[in-house]
Amino acid sequence: MHLLEVDSLKTYYYTRKGIVKAVDGVNLHIDKREIVGVAGESGCGKTTLAMTIMRLLPPEARILSGKILFHGEDLLSKTEEEMREIRWGKISMIFQHSMNALNPVLTIERQMIDAIRAHDRKLTKAEAAVKARELFKMVGLDPDRIKGYQHEFSGGMRQRVMIAMALAADPELLIADEPTTGLDVITQSQILELLRRLKDELGLSIMIITHDLAVIAEVCDRVSIMYAGKVVEIADVVTLYKRPKHPYTYLLINAFPSIKSRRRRLEEIKGEPPRLVNPPPGCRFHPRCPYATEECRAKEPSLVEVEPGHYVACHYAHKLNFIMER
Ligand code: SF4
Repeated sequence: MHLLEVDSLKTYYYTRKGIVKAVDGVNLHIDKREIVGVAGESGCGKTTLAMTIMRLLPPEARILSGKILFHGEDLLSKTEEEMREIRWGKISMIFQHSMNALNPVLTIERQMIDAIRAHDRKLTKAEAAVKARELFKMVGLDPDRIKGYQHEFSGGMRQRVMIAMALAADPELLIADEPTTGLDVITQSQILELLRRLKDELGLSIMIITHDLAVIAEVCDRVSIMYAGKVVEIADVVTLYKRPKHPYTYLLINAFPSIKSRRRRLEEIKGEPPRLVNPPPGCRFHPRCPYATEECRAKEPSLVEVEPGHYVACHYAHKLNFIMER
């Protein structure tokens, strides 16, 4: 049994402009001690997927169908009270830009104590303070700096604080939404190294949501590529970079700097991602795909296994072989 299994999940937003099909039949899973990347361009549904797993959606969103199995139990059948236990206690999340959300007038220690006690009311303030120092150490921060304020911390240090807070209730799964955005390259690497270390030391499973393929290459074990609300390719990270099968994955890898040297962008993906209010029929990538045919415009491809553990949603996956030079 997988730790987390998302099955045929659909989450739509009902807006004045129409129905936004943000997550439209998504399947993926995460095992214990595994880092899985969910990657794709902005607006492809990655964050909505994470917020659906956490059951933290805005009122205009509706989960239409599917299952989110955590230890085999469907999170979609849990009451809000049960979800409160699972949220942070079992599945924790670092939100996008959350490192900028620390309260500037409270010490980091006070904020950490509040976060720890929010999960465990039985702890006294003194006990929570001890735990806060332990968490500080765990994420590579000097506990003697815990009484400082956020303006005394660099971006990388604030992100470490957010990771420490997310670990306050000893979760089994951590969802990190764009955990390195806004950080310089060296700090990005350090944060990713920290996540990998936490996976090894705590036996944590991690889902990293990112638009940055370099992040995926550096830290993930497996990857799900999303396009326009759908998963179009799943593979282990080595296979994905060496033998991508979906044209979008191939173009996405080529649109990013080299993993090691972070060279300049190589090729743009032509066109814009579709609006999810009215996505294209057939394969949603067909307006941008250099290999599109009539079949692609008429019929939606299903996600099929092309080799063990490698899934692709493309009518021509068996014919397209991309050679990656990097
Ligand atoms: S199904 Fe057709 S349009 Fe879609 S990715 Fe494959 S070749 Fe391109």
